[in-house]
Amino acid sequence: MPSKHIYTFPPSQTSSVSISGTDERFPVNRIFCVGRNYEAHAAEMGVKVDREAPFYFTKSPSTIVETGAQIPYPPGTQNYHHEIELVVAIGSPCSNVDVPSAHEHIFGYAVGLDMTRRDLQLVAREKGRPWDLGKDFEQSAVISTIVTVEQCGHPERAGISLEVNGDMRQLADISDLIWSVPEIISDLSKFYHLVPGDLIYTGTPAGVGAVQPGDHLHGEVVGIGAVDLSIT
Ligand code: MN
Repeated sequence: MPSKHIYTFPPSQTSSVSISGTDERFPVNRIFCVGRNYEAHAAEMGVKVDREAPFYFTKSPSTIVETGAQIPYPPGTQNYHHEIELVVAIGSPCSNVDVPSAHEHIFGYAVGLDMTRRDLQLVAREKGRPWDLGKDFEQSAVISTIVTVEQCGHPERAGISLEVNGDMRQLADISDLIWSVPEIISDLSKFYHLVPGDLIYTGTPAGVGAVQPGDHLHGEVVGIGAVDLSIT
């Protein structure tokens, strides 16, 4: 047996995200996303919040795009939406963690855009099919620089907002999250062995909407940072 693998072609590069205050980068393992985690957003999507348990979908690590990018309008959609979200970066392994201990496993926080092909997502939702075509596509997980817990603590109240071409589209507070960050980590850790490198997009507030080529998106979570994206 050969002592190491010889690949037929070069393997994909590891996606990574810049970290505030250091040249080191955060290597991305998995991307989990929480659905319907703000009441007003669930209402605008025409669905009720399930208060018994949060639910999740995933994006591939290769979908990561860092703030400041210019990306093309994606194929296969005529209703390409922004979703501004608080992102949690996991820093240590955990499974079956309880809510009070969940904070210990957070490396830091970031601001993200869960870009969505809404038309494809809604067709899938109506037909009871997976959401992958609507959610897990190239360059759909936009993210700011990660701020470490040492730098920002664990924010419980902070404005979260998104502007398109300077017009405010989404404005809320992360204290409006139905499932808090520790509750999400605790719940998710009952189904997955979370490891350093995992990212969790925690859900979007109301005001999601379509963007067009030429649009510039600017999102913020106060005390965490900002994310910028241009659609070409
Ligand atoms: Mn989302």
